[in-house]
Amino acid sequence: MPPELLAAIEAIESLPGIGKRSAMRIAFDLVKRGPLRVANFTAALKTLAEGVTTCSECGAFLSNTAGSACSFCTSPKRTHETLCVVENASDIYAVENTGEHNGLYHVLGGVLSPLDGIGPSELNIPKLFSRAKSLGTKEVIVATNPSVEGNATGHYIADALKPLGVRVTRIATGLALGQLLDYAETQAISQSLRQRVDL
Ligand SMILES: [Zn+2]
Repeated sequence: MPPELLAAIEAIESLPGIGKRSAMRIAFDLVKRGPLRVANFTAALKTLAEGVTTCSECGAFLSNTAGSACSFCTSPKRTHETLCVVENASDIYAVENTGEHNGLYHVLGGVLSPLDGIGPSELNIPKLFSRAKSLGTKEVIVATNPSVEGNATGHYIADALKPLGVRVTRIATGLALGQLLDYAETQAISQSLRQRVDL
């Protein structure tokens, strides 16, 4: 096999959910499409890598050309009274698909993991506390993944914000949001948001 094909297969195989056989199929298909049509594909990837940054307020994905704050943070239609806390920017879309949350978001960038040296300052937690205060947030909904660390992170946030009069809740069932984007899963997240419990 030509080294160009091998290199492409290796790159494609590094993507999540793609095994060797799928990577080979995609690489062969790209060769068959020819340079012009592959150019559109590579241009989109280049734009994605260079053109997407994160919101300076909440950490959501943001186009490089859209200023410093995202459309959630700047929307006059979204309430500042509820703030949904997620681990990763991609988790926002799982919550957003439900249509259940009309508040703002806050991306932590991970979860507390003392053994790995990840404390509150390594995450976007200090910013969460300052935002909750300045926005006048009444409820923080913790939607971190249902791991030991995800739960501990929720309790840490609750311990800090409850004395300030902010209600802190946790989505009801253990769902790892990042992978959940299809319809059935959206229904489950929807239910989980409605049945959230106080921390
Ligand atoms: Zn934002």
